[in-house]
Amino acid sequence: MVTRSIRSALEGLRAYYDTRERVCTACGFEVDEGSWVSETNGSVVMYHYECPSCHAVMEHTVTLSAA
Ligand SMILES: [Zn+2]
Repeated sequence: MVTRSIRSALEGLRAYYDTRERVCTACGFEVDEGSWVSETNGSVVMYHYECPSCHAVMEHTVTLSAA
């Protein structure tokens, strides 16, 4: 189903950020696995984490295509 494929794609992206972007760009602190949080309003998905050391916020926004 479409919903299921979107969900798995989103989970894949979250996992990607979780493994590939785990160092704060502001201070170099290495964040824990699982720090990325995803939120969606149905058309846009936001992934973000807050650095526990300097509290800088890293984020990515992904716009869902209306398939
Ligand atoms: Zn930091």
